[in-house]
Amino acid sequence: MTPADDPRLDRYLAKRNFTVTPEPSGGSPSEALPRFVVQQHAARRLHYDVRLEIDGVLVSWAVPKGPSMDHAVRRLAVRTEDHPMDYAGFEGAIPKGEYGGGTVVVWDAGVWHNLTESKGRLKPPAEAVARGHVRAWLEGEKLLGAWDFVRTDDRNWLMIKVADAAADPELDPVRDEPRSVLSGRTLEEVAADPGAEWHSDRPPS
Ligand code: MN
Repeated sequence: MTPADDPRLDRYLAKRNFTVTPEPSGGSPSEALPRFVVQQHAARRLHYDVRLEIDGVLVSWAVPKGPSMDHAVRRLAVRTEDHPMDYAGFEGAIPKGEYGGGTVVVWDAGVWHNLTESKGRLKPPAEAVARGHVRAWLEGEKLLGAWDFVRTDDRNWLMIKVADAAADPELDPVRDEPRSVLSGRTLEEVAADPGAEWHSDRPPS
């Protein structure tokens, strides 16, 4: 199935005019471990888009305050439309007036492992999303450890750090590590030079 034929991407494709936006429209599943990406996105309001590769698409949430390393903190995560795989390497400027208009940087990226269990058995990730609870172990450059994604109602979920060895209320990568893991640029630097768009279909090394 090509991305354009994948019904999970219908909403993504319908929202965008690809003659205007530099955003990607396709991509292939990872050959090895599934990927995750967190994109800092200065749209009407700044937020962090957290995306988990599940069965060849990026299942996505917009997290206004970004991920926390503190188990005691619950971050609102609003489910958004599934994105195509190539979006994991997208950094640049979406033109004003277009859907999601504003600047995007790849704030963190890496691989993830599904840890969602039910009655002692591992639950497949697509089923976990459908049931409203995903436990994801993230291995990024900034984020490490497990997070729970818990649906509260309709599109609203919470993203909560699991109380594992990596949890640390003193760590705040959203505050302390603003730069792109792809280009080393800040959101402000990308906004100031929107011509320098970055496209990559590979995760950062
Ligand atoms: Mn966004």
